[in-house]
Amino acid sequence: MFLTIGTTGTQERPATDLGFLLHKHPDKAQTFSTSHGSAHVFYPEASAERCTAALLLEVDPVALVRRGKGRGGAPDAALAQYVNDRPYAASSLLSVALAAVFKSALGGVCRAMPERAGSPLPLRIEVPALPARGGAELVHKLFAPLGWSRVDVTAVPLDEEFPAWGDSRYVRLVLEGELRLADALRQLYVLLPVLDDAKHYWVAPDEVDKLLRAGEGWLADHPERPLITRRYLSHRWGLTRQADQALELVRLAESDDLDVDSVDNAVDESTDTEEKPVPLAEQRRTAILDALRAAGASRVLDLGCGQGQLVQALLKDVRFTEIVGVDVSMRALTIASRRLKLDRMGERRADRVTLRQGSLTYTDKRLAGYDAAVLSEVIEHLDLDRLPALEYAVFGAARPGTALVTTPNVEYNVRWETLPAGHVRHGDHRFEWTRAEFRDWAGKVAERHGYTVRYVPVGPDDPEVGPPTQMAVFTRTTETPGSRGRNTGKNNGEKTDGNIGEKEAEAA
Ligand code: SAH
Repeated sequence: MFLTIGTTGTQERPATDLGFLLHKHPDKAQTFSTSHGSAHVFYPEASAERCTAALLLEVDPVALVRRGKGRGGAPDAALAQYVNDRPYAASSLLSVALAAVFKSALGGVCRAMPERAGSPLPLRIEVPALPARGGAELVHKLFAPLGWSRVDVTAVPLDEEFPAWGDSRYVRLVLEGELRLADALRQLYVLLPVLDDAKHYWVAPDEVDKLLRAGEGWLADHPERPLITRRYLSHRWGLTRQADQALELVRLAESDDLDVDSVDNAVDESTDTEEKPVPLAEQRRTAILDALRAAGASRVLDLGCGQGQLVQALLKDVRFTEIVGVDVSMRALTIASRRLKLDRMGERRADRVTLRQGSLTYTDKRLAGYDAAVLSEVIEHLDLDRLPALEYAVFGAARPGTALVTTPNVEYNVRWETLPAGHVRHGDHRFEWTRAEFRDWAGKVAERHGYTVRYVPVGPDDPEVGPPTQMAVFTRTTETPGSRGRNTGKNNGEKTDGNIGEKEAEAA
């Protein structure tokens, strides 16, 4: 596994400064031991005009197999465990070595020459054997938007003497351009394993942080961001979504002149419904709007409104005269407010909408007396033992005429192609229910608080596993809560006011 990093210079600004920036002296060959073998750094050329550093990782195939995490082929293909491409290809192993050997350079730290570390250099990077799932075309798509003036990708033939055999899965990559060294290294650190798409190690949740750190400044608005996060995080659904949400926030924060409509679906819909013509979240909103209209509601609470997509849809229909979005997350509310352009909205429209921070596990007098309340994809974000508190706050205290509750139907998860077996759809889901579990809960809630309940499928209603989203429509039948309603949760009446403190908001 091999890559070279070169630069050019002059007598005044010698190329050999690269040695300072990489924290590796050009006159010495150095060896570092990493968990999968030895990493060597040496300089094939080092003059004031041209200086090139090479990183060679000598993988120990036996160590790779012992660690049991190498891509060794089928478990019984004993020889394949030892004879595979890992020692030669620039994969995630090289990326890990790169981060270990050039740690300071990756962080852009150079005490000797802070100014050079912080400014672009003429760079040439070559990776002679880069395994690329997706071929030369994808390699180009990944590097082209990153500021290189030349991205040269050549397919490597399987065997040079037999061109008819076609190309291998490797390409030779040459990048040239004026970039900060740290940026270039961080791009490689992320994109080498993305192209290989076969991480040699188990991807733990801290990989999200690593990705966000290494992606700083270039990943948030990369056109191939979904593919990059998905592959970098080894297709782990929850992590990919976490990373995507964080990156979306970065992107929003970076673009002052924000057109939120264009990112409408980017945050929480991409992973749910990537290849679907109508995103599931949109189908959910349509089902909710239909049910609200059918109930004749005009004053509506959106409880756990998140980033305000439903509030936005409600505002478009004048029959909804008062819309209140409540969420515990200030961050979500800030995004919602930008999405709605609350500060620039006409007075008549602005009068119809309120966004408010509050936790749904505490009763709040201000939420009483509404025609309808929506809890869209919210209950599964609460720990099960907090659910009775929410139940009381909504059905016992606020007591809207109609309540709509949607939640994932876990039975449907087997139908999501990209969702690994046994995984929930979102990293923050505390539970996901079967249809029977949801109905059991909703039936009891209705009974305890004087409501009737019916169920509406949202999304394709699969004959075997049901729809992806299940919705319960509660209709109030009595003005006053049932006698058992007051005793459903331990936390009932803990607080009678929706103004909650910072600490609770953080904890929720
Ligand atoms: N209703 C939106 C967002 C769903 S995500 C939609 O359908 O797209 C779940 C939301 O519930 C998040 O915004 C989260 O901050 C909020 N939430 C979780 N626990 C909460 C609580 N205890 N009180 C208020 N909001 C809560």
